Amino acid sequence: MREAPQPNRFRDSWAGTINAQRAGDEVLLAGWVHRRRDHGGLIFIDLRDRSGLIQLVFHPESAGGAFALAEALRPEHVVTVRGTVERRDAVNVNPNLATGEVEVAVVEAQSLAESETPPFAIDEDTPVDETLRLRYRWLDLRRQGMLDAMLTRTHIVRTMREVLDRRDFLELETPILTRSTPEGARDFLVPSRLTPGTLYALPQSPQLFKQLFMMAGYERYYQIARCFRDEDLRADRQPEFTQLDLEMAFVEEDDVIETMEAVMGAVFEATGFGVPAAPWPRLSYDEAVARFGNDRPDTRFGLEIHDVGALVAGSDFKVFQGVLDSGGVVRALNAGAREMSRSELDGLNEVVQIHGAKAVAPIYVEAGGWAGNLAKFFTPEQIAAVNAELGATDGDLLLFVADQPKTAAASLGALRLHLGERFGLIPEGRHDALWITDFPMFERDESTPARPRWAALHHPFTAPRGDLDDPESVLSRAYDLVLDGVEIGGGSIRIHTPEVQRAVFAHLGLDADEAQERFGFLLEALRFGAPPHGGIAMGIDRIAAIISGRDSIRDVIAFPKTASGADPLTGAPAPVDARQLRELGLQSLTTPPATGA
Ligand code: ASP
Repeated sequence: MREAPQPNRFRDSWAGTINAQRAGDEVLLAGWVHRRRDHGGLIFIDLRDRSGLIQLVFHPESAGGAFALAEALRPEHVVTVRGTVERRDAVNVNPNLATGEVEVAVVEAQSLAESETPPFAIDEDTPVDETLRLRYRWLDLRRQGMLDAMLTRTHIVRTMREVLDRRDFLELETPILTRSTPEGARDFLVPSRLTPGTLYALPQSPQLFKQLFMMAGYERYYQIARCFRDEDLRADRQPEFTQLDLEMAFVEEDDVIETMEAVMGAVFEATGFGVPAAPWPRLSYDEAVARFGNDRPDTRFGLEIHDVGALVAGSDFKVFQGVLDSGGVVRALNAGAREMSRSELDGLNEVVQIHGAKAVAPIYVEAGGWAGNLAKFFTPEQIAAVNAELGATDGDLLLFVADQPKTAAASLGALRLHLGERFGLIPEGRHDALWITDFPMFERDESTPARPRWAALHHPFTAPRGDLDDPESVLSRAYDLVLDGVEIGGGSIRIHTPEVQRAVFAHLGLDADEAQERFGFLLEALRFGAPPHGGIAMGIDRIAAIISGRDSIRDVIAFPKTASGADPLTGAPAPVDARQLRELGLQSLTTPPATGA
């Protein structure tokens, strides 16, 4: 707490800030009964408010009225108390509590509200089922861990605002009821009552509006923006989430990257999260995929992937040779001197099979050569060359995957992370931020195999780098920021001429009429003097989760949905009255479940 509260009839001080300097002061405090202990005629209560805890003592002789009230108090009752700050005897000092040197001898107490017995204890010691926590979220939010997460979140957002304000950004809002803004997910739709049969879409991001701000000449915009994406169930996604959304005019990649390094550098510093100072390393997409198997590499440990196809070409090992002959690759990583049982090694197959590979070939290095059955298929020169490439020495475990490039990369990438976790390879307290650049502009849209098409890897408004007529190899001017192996943000330099924008739409399978119908307003705005511009968006929930050391973003969102998109607190999503549907000109084809949850 930075300031004492304005005194009123409930309180004049924050409970958690009272220390020995205030010994002798009379204080007025308000909050919740955290814990209550009867002790040979005295009653002790830990009083909790947002600032922390303080011990109250109730004496039966000197303050009979207050004592009588204290006898009736139970956890989570709400009280206001007046009393004197007293030093505790040395033996009673609690070094784990900020207020542990003192206690408040209560002279007067008033009950403000009672509480039913909570369904779980308001402490950090008792593990509580998550659905129960979400059902009683207002109680869960009283627990210290959730409060800490909310404080961290506040701190993060405040720091972002401070840096951007200093840099003359405008904080502007954009509509929630709007038209579809494609970010690769399904839209949430809101039927219009005034024009039945038409629908608004909730924004997947403020992408097009922030570009229009640039065309309006506002040059530097940001917003703490809520985004909505109707995605299929995937671990740790939320249908609505919060981004720091930002856009700048007359800029190139370096300008946006420098701005975000200033913002995130300040966030890490403010939250005491030890990331090395910016500028952060930049890695091209191709290099990231080749060395780490994916475009969000966790660079906090080694085990990098090497292409050994050229070194083993021509061997007698049919599996490798067959893959090489069919345009595939053979890649490997040196897991180091790791002893793994046969069944553990077999278990590695499951890790890669999720990514479509058939199996991992494990080989131990022994006496400068390879142990086991596979060695006989390779010449001593091949073995020596692979060992040299992988920096392998006796006792090292080498893991090979032979497959098509994408599958091999993803498989070894997963294997690498699995081993990193299994053997605790990430040094305690180490955090890495890095940029990924030079993404492909397009990827094949696999969703309609019969009608192969291109999809934008970032989004359709990203500027291309290179020859648009060669969709296979054209790159985009996009960049992602990766923290500890997690993508925490991404953005790009945008297309700012109608011709290029139309050409990109055409590659994505939108003919001129469709493009006009869906994005006519953008194409039109691009004809009225659009400056070069670019921006980025950062995932605030994810950043807060990493900084708070939480596995799930649900632990840093005050009122999240479950993994199936439900809210056990309010029962959303829920059926609505038939009358509401009628007004919207809607009729449901399915009978909703009995409860909304
Ligand atoms: N709108 C993009 C997103 O939400 C970010 C950006 O390109 O600025 O991912």
